[in-house]
Amino acid sequence: MKFCSFCGRQAADYANFCPRCGRPFTLRTVPQKPALGHHDRMAIAGFVLSLMGLLSFITTPLQIVSLILSLACGDAKRCKVLRVLGIVFSCVALFLSCCFWIVFFSDPQYFLDQILYPEYIY
Ligand SMILES: [Zn+2]
Repeated sequence: MKFCSFCGRQAADYANFCPRCGRPFTLRTVPQKPALGHHDRMAIAGFVLSLMGLLSFITTPLQIVSLILSLACGDAKRCKVLRVLGIVFSCVALFLSCCFWIVFFSDPQYFLDQILYPEYIY
């Protein structure tokens, strides 16, 4: 059952016009979700890449790409949260990888020894 929005008369679901006042029942349009746009896809890609960058935090170029992707998709309609997460994750991953590279280049020999001869490190 539905009700006329003008006079309040009850009408059958299939009725197109109000039986009392004759006004047409306006079709209630279901709000359509906007289609995934170019920027939404970029947001998703940036988010996925930033996750990968977080998991392997020494992949600095990957993190830069994910950060650029996440920053560049400002018109994303449906993936705003993913975009923000992508930016945050990329920044965290970049920070971690910067820390790693700073430590690494401060004493590369130590790291190489650790990788090549782990049994000699105490
Ligand atoms: Zn009516």
